[in-house]
Amino acid sequence: DDATAGIAHDMNTETLLRTDRDHLIHPVSSWKDHEAAGARILRSGKGAWVTDSEGRDLLDGFSGLWCVNVGYGCQSVVDAATEQMSRLPYATGYFGFANEAAIALAGRLAAKAPGDLNRVFFSQGGSDAVDSALRFIRFYQHARGTPQKRHVIGLSRGYHGSTYTGAGLTALSVFHRDADVPLAWQHHIPSPYPYRHAGDGQPETIIAESVASLRRKVEELGADQVAAFFCEPIQGSGGVIVPPAGWLAAMRHTCTELGILFVADEVITGFGRTGPLFACETEQVVPDMMTVAKGLTAGYAPMGAVFMSDAIYTTIRDNTPAGVPIGHGMTYSAHPVSAAIGLAVLDLYEGGMLENGRRAGAHLAERLRAMADHPLIGDVRVSGLLAGIELVADKATKRKPAADLQLASTLSRAGYEAGILFRAFGDDIIGLAPPLCCSTAEIDLLCDRLYRVIDDLRPTMR
Ligand code: PMP
Repeated sequence: DDATAGIAHDMNTETLLRTDRDHLIHPVSSWKDHEAAGARILRSGKGAWVTDSEGRDLLDGFSGLWCVNVGYGCQSVVDAATEQMSRLPYATGYFGFANEAAIALAGRLAAKAPGDLNRVFFSQGGSDAVDSALRFIRFYQHARGTPQKRHVIGLSRGYHGSTYTGAGLTALSVFHRDADVPLAWQHHIPSPYPYRHAGDGQPETIIAESVASLRRKVEELGADQVAAFFCEPIQGSGGVIVPPAGWLAAMRHTCTELGILFVADEVITGFGRTGPLFACETEQVVPDMMTVAKGLTAGYAPMGAVFMSDAIYTTIRDNTPAGVPIGHGMTYSAHPVSAAIGLAVLDLYEGGMLENGRRAGAHLAERLRAMADHPLIGDVRVSGLLAGIELVADKATKRKPAADLQLASTLSRAGYEAGILFRAFGDDIIGLAPPLCCSTAEIDLLCDRLYRVIDDLRPTMR
């Protein structure tokens, strides 16, 4: 049919499945399980919906991998990409060259970004945005004459990508196993986790503990040895953990006091996911650096970015002799097609998509909170169109579901059968991140179907 013509016209589903199993290595997956289960092949998409190779329609409650913020099939984005690709598919940024789309996107983003985050380096995705930030931080510390400030601190449930340095800054065990990370200069402090807080769970207690942990870690490493603290405004892959209001601003403030850089990783939270364009805006936080990806191009082509403050930029610039290149960049830094897509996607955000997302997010929060009295739902946390639902075997004691139930695979199978896509973290947390284009009717459908999927677990959990 039309959808596959030109891509794999000689491959039926069976051939695709076999070829996938025999040749395509999938990101972050059990190779054994994948070979046993086979791939779910997605073929087309429109709005908040995708269709698989068997013609099954699925409501995408996860925006692909929390990235397709504007939804599928946006013609203005396709047109912008097509126009740029026909006119100039590639231009290097090396040797003084540039392309119009990347310049325009950098300018528009700098105007939108918090505070003096006026300098933008474009990467290919979030992982290399984080890796780039770490390299720029290193250059900065050398430039200002403090090369001994080499330690970097993250959170114990943080996720910062899958390059060597990003995987080390990440603190999820899957990314450390057999990988010889964290690296010697990478450290972690406990995450704020209101639902599973060991104390009184009060916002001020949680904030005070995080501040004290950061202070203690910096003291332990030596204040003159620490370069930066990284955090996600809301921890995504760690289980959609929403910190108490005021937490982000308190951590920003503490970093300033300690003389270390504050880096916000907004790869998930950026571009309307939590309501505003950037989650930092909610608490008027201005990071020293900020990483983004995903919603930057809404998944229509790969691109990430690092924003840095004017102060960091000028320090590196002014302390590097003319004629000496700052040795960081890739062939596809500031790719013109991705940049053209970024501009078209920004038009959509500003043309009503952010507003629609906020409306849909408010409805999602209302619907999920109404579900929270279900006996298997221990916690519901929502920020805009980003939500986590934590399942428990026992609501009163917050006991986790038994590991041998392998709920994650049961949930994703049941969700697929019910015609919805979401993500299961571990065996007890369901993550939702629907596209910002969702109507309230689609949010209702997603929640109705999800409720049934959860309720159907009751016999298993008993
Ligand atoms: N940082 C955060 C906060 C992320 O959520 C992710 C991806 N989920 C990354 C970095 C890495 O981005 P990418 O997968 O595009 O490399």
